[in-house]
Amino acid sequence: MTDRLSDMLTRAARLIAGDGHSAGLKPVQWQALRYLGIANRFSRTPGALAAWLGQTKGTVSQTVATLERKGLVERTGDADDRRLVRLTLTEAGRALLERTPENVADAMLAGLTAAERAIFAPLLAHMLAGFLAARGHRPFGLCAECRHFLRDAERGSPHFCGLLDVPLGREDAAAICVEQEAA
Ligand code: SF4
Repeated sequence: MTDRLSDMLTRAARLIAGDGHSAGLKPVQWQALRYLGIANRFSRTPGALAAWLGQTKGTVSQTVATLERKGLVERTGDADDRRLVRLTLTEAGRALLERTPENVADAMLAGLTAAERAIFAPLLAHMLAGFLAARGHRPFGLCAECRHFLRDAERGSPHFCGLLDVPLGREDAAAICVEQEAA
């Protein structure tokens, strides 16, 4: 006898994992593209992408290579640290993210009212956080909800990261970060 909730979650995950086909991408390539669209500048690296996807760096390297060949992602060096590789969406990658109509998770959530979403979001966050913490995975939370986030800090533009010692813009505050620690 299986658990009904677990069955529904598994089915939802299976349907969501099929995303990307309409964009001509494999699901993992689509997930990588989406990640690069929501991650902050410190998190757009092959290592952080591997942590987000829960894959090895070798597997992620193949995914990135395919996205590069398709002209959707660029690999660049870091001005301050030559060993560090940064991943950036190209114009084509950004455009694909914006125009691809099918996003199964969004379609599922569209059926919920604002009140239902307000109930669902913390439950899902709680479930995910517990699972990730138990396995030593990083949570990748929102920058604005990080304990190192200094809102409207004097040295900021307009905010500041107390961990990385760098100014943060509004765009950074709304992105997810590999270093995030919940406030
Ligand atoms: S404040 Fe936290 S989430 Fe934001 S950049 Fe710094 S470490 Fe990352």
